[in-house]
Amino acid sequence: MKAQGPAELALAVALAELAADRIKVPCAEDLATDLWFADTPAERAEAVTECDGCAVFAECAAAAAELWPRFGVWAAVDRSPRPKAVAARVGPRGDRNAD
Ligand code: SF4
Repeated sequence: MKAQGPAELALAVALAELAADRIKVPCAEDLATDLWFADTPAERAEAVTECDGCAVFAECAAAAAELWPRFGVWAAVDRSPRPKAVAARVGPRGDRNAD
């Protein structure tokens, strides 16, 4: 199991403190639709706007900088690959790393 980095740990602590006060961050309130990890860019764009004003925004941004997530919205940044980038990486015949 990979050890948590300092930013990831700080985010976990901040989220636990909010949970102790029964406060949910926007991405935890929307688990039914899960816009933050939706398949479509339009839905993830909606999640980007929902991050605004989040109580742990700074901690989330620091954790994302530490973790380099490859999918989903973290601190109002959609880190999912763009369709063109995916197409270029996979290639027209499905072979990887094609340009
Ligand atoms: S800033 Fe991070 S923790 Fe807050 S709603 Fe956005 S993704 Fe969730």
